[in-house]
Amino acid sequence: MSETIFSKIIDKSIPADILYEDELSLAFRDINPQAPIHFLVIPKKAIATINDIEEQDKTLVGHLYWVAAKLASELGFAEQGYRAVMNCNEDGGQTVYHIHLHVLAGKPLGWPPYQEKLKR
Ligand code: 5GP
Repeated sequence: MSETIFSKIIDKSIPADILYEDELSLAFRDINPQAPIHFLVIPKKAIATINDIEEQDKTLVGHLYWVAAKLASELGFAEQGYRAVMNCNEDGGQTVYHIHLHVLAGKPLGWPPYQEKLKR
């Protein structure tokens, strides 16, 4: 897999506002926040898209949600609520091809993301 900007954040060759790190994952604030609180939780293992998650990665992907919930609790927005989502490929809006959980919070968030009326 080709290197992404997130590999450089993991190896600290470019800076990021890091909130949490362990041997499996890293969480850091998004450079272009889409909500009052917006951070990313990424695996240190480079996996390009959700479609590339293999059976041996199942625990790792669960770990990302565990980190999201831990930070939500520590940062004080767990009870109020938040969204934790992964975008996949072009229609999903993915721009960095190293899977990442977006954690968005701090205001009521819009839903659904697709607003156009579905044709019957
Ligand atoms: P995607 O569009 O792939 O779901 O999300 C990629 C996210 O990474 C975007 O929200 C974008 O703002 C964020 N991002 C891209 N480059 C950087 C960077 O260099 N530093 C940080 N902190 N976030 C980045």
